[in-house]
Amino acid sequence: IPKGYLAVWQKPRFTAIIESMVEKVIPKVIPIRIDEGKGLAPSIGDQLIAPHSNTKDARGRTLRDLRISVTDRCNFRCTYCMPKEVFDQNYPYLSHKELLTFEEITRLSAIFATLGVEKIRLTGGEPLLRKNLEILIEMLSKLRSSDGKSLDLTLTTNGSILRKKAAALKAAGLQRLTVSLDGLNDDIFKKMNDVDFPVSDVLDGIKAAQEAGFENIKVNMVVKKGTNDHEIVAMAQHFKGSGVILRFIEFMDVGSSNGWNMEQVLPSKEVISRISAAFPLEPIEANYTGEVAQRWCYADGSGEIGVISSVTQTFCHECTRARISTDGQMYLCLFANEGFDFKTLLRSGKSDLEIANAVMNTWAQRDDHYSEIRGSNTANQSSGTRKVEMSYIGG
Ligand code: SAM
Ligand code: SF4
Ligand code: SF4
Repeated sequence: IPKGYLAVWQKPRFTAIIESMVEKVIPKVIPIRIDEGKGLAPSIGDQLIAPHSNTKDARGRTLRDLRISVTDRCNFRCTYCMPKEVFDQNYPYLSHKELLTFEEITRLSAIFATLGVEKIRLTGGEPLLRKNLEILIEMLSKLRSSDGKSLDLTLTTNGSILRKKAAALKAAGLQRLTVSLDGLNDDIFKKMNDVDFPVSDVLDGIKAAQEAGFENIKVNMVVKKGTNDHEIVAMAQHFKGSGVILRFIEFMDVGSSNGWNMEQVLPSKEVISRISAAFPLEPIEANYTGEVAQRWCYADGSGEIGVISSVTQTFCHECTRARISTDGQMYLCLFANEGFDFKTLLRSGKSDLEIANAVMNTWAQRDDHYSEIRGSNTANQSSGTRKVEMSYIGG
């Protein structure tokens, strides 16, 4: 059975049989992905109402942020995200016609903006690999929130081609940037990105972004205990006083292929105590409700850092984020295993009002709070429950 065959197999019954056979003979995870038209159908409802920004989900949370994955492809193979053994040349990446077009992304984003979304983050996969991304940014930069303000438009990148792209991104209207970097030591970084990519090129990308006029650039470091945790203080020292805000992310059990276990998670508390021992820190207030990072500033006034404690200090109760996958499925949680098929709605002649009602109805039924119930779900993962991969749903 050729590798990668399962995702294009159309008959679920046979898929299940073959999947169980394959799992016995190939010791690797078979990726899941929502095949064309297989997502849940969003409900438009019988009585259409005017779009508004107060739709609450089943846990009383409003919709404020949208993350859009613009490609499921990447030039890195970070072991915690797209391990080489799974994301090889046979991996069934989406074809071009399966992707939402720029016009579809912009139309959907405009609808989300009428429903209270104030912030859009473009992500992936590696978003800068999507051809002509700056055209999409220019289109999105013209959108306004329900109260007439421009949207907070941002992007997360591995920085590998930022030197080439930074000026065009800025000119197109991108407001903010987050760059991922997991250490300053080349051997460790190369071991984590698994494509031999050097630290110096990412640092040069950050420099290019600063030269292009981006301010308050954020750098995300995923901390994997035993792999790069001894880089924490060096990273803090490097970015302290540079205007760049370094954020430490706990290694998460996203997707089903990164071999996550709790022993590889270094609690954020420990990150703070290690940095504090070298450079004293003080806690500071969140910028806004629902901010994922807890903020700390250096006591000597040389800037701030953040920690994202998705595993040890969950923040589901204030999670206002929806996600749109590369092929137009709406996901209500990073750890969801089912999406709602908005691409079919967009391509079937529905009006903006109908689609807005479908978004409101989908959001209203949201009850997701995975991080708060992680223990039982992590147990399920080993017994067969599969979550979608972060590169597809958007990190
Ligand atoms: N390719 C871009 C990048 O790496 O910045 C954007 C997509 S990536 C999926 C978005 C963010 O998710 C990155 O900062 C990455 O480090 C983080 N990430 C990926 N897998 C993760 C995991 N298992 N646990 C914690 N963070 C993860
Ligand atoms: Fe690519 Fe980003 Fe995932 Fe690394 S974290 S494999 S750079 S998508
Ligand atoms: Fe939001 Fe899901 Fe993460 Fe909780 S686990 S913070 S609901 S994305």
